Amino acid sequence: MEGCMQCGKNLSFNEIGAHKKFINRGARQFLCRNCLAESLNVDPELIDAKIEQFKLQGCTLFV
Ligand SMILES: [Zn+2]
Repeated sequence: MEGCMQCGKNLSFNEIGAHKKFINRGARQFLCRNCLAESLNVDPELIDAKIEQFKLQGCTLFV
């Protein structure tokens, strides 16, 4: 699996899910949690909170 397109960090399943959810569902390249937060201009903690929320809703992009 490819890493973050910005910093090269290895990506977790949930980071890929977050990128799809926040940026583009059909994306082929992804950002890690930190780079995603930066590009959205939010705190990484918000990304975590959103992932938890999507998980509770039963979203299959997250484990
Ligand atoms: Zn990154």
